[in-house]
Formats: sequence, C-alpha cells, structure tokens
Amino acid sequence: MVNGMRTRICPFCKEDIHFQALVCRYCRRDLPPVTQSTQPRRKPSSAWVAAIAVAGIIVSGAAVLAAEFLRERKNWLTEPPRRPESQNQPD
Ligand SMILES: [Zn+2]
Repeated sequence: MVNGMRTRICPFCKEDIHFQALVCRYCRRDLPPVTQSTQPRRKPSSAWVAAIAVAGIIVSGAAVLAAEFLRERKNWLTEPPRRPESQNQPD
C-alpha cells in the first residue's frame, strides 16, 4: 500500500481506488462522496466547545448548589429544634 497516493479503499470490494471516485472502477458500484479525508484543515466544531463549556458550568453550578444544600441540611440536623418550653414546664 502506498500512502503518498491519494486513494481510498472501496467499501464494497476493498480495492484501492481514487479518493474522489464516485463509481468504483473494479466493482462499478456507486460510492458515497468523500466528506472528511479531502479537507486537510478541520476546524474544531464550536458547537462542541460550547456544549462542553455549558456542561461544565452546569456541573460546577450543581456541585456548588449541592454542597450548599448539604451544609444547610447538616446545620438543620445538628441544631436541635427549639421546643416551646412553656408547655412542658411543671406547674
Ligand atoms: Zn469496488
């Protein structure tokens, strides 16, 4: 296999064909158009970056909220509820 040649493998007959071929010259089948291999420069999709950033913000925010909630709840549990003592006082 020669890597310098701009070829690809036919998905049907596994023969080496031209990378822009629309029809395989060996098995005569229609080939899917080339999408990725012909583009040397690929920008990182900004949608993914934005999605990851938003997910990170949501996760960190949820973590902070959960920590605050647990701390508040711990305070509730450790602090004994104040009973109205007037009712239990012996007369
Ligand atoms: Zn083929």
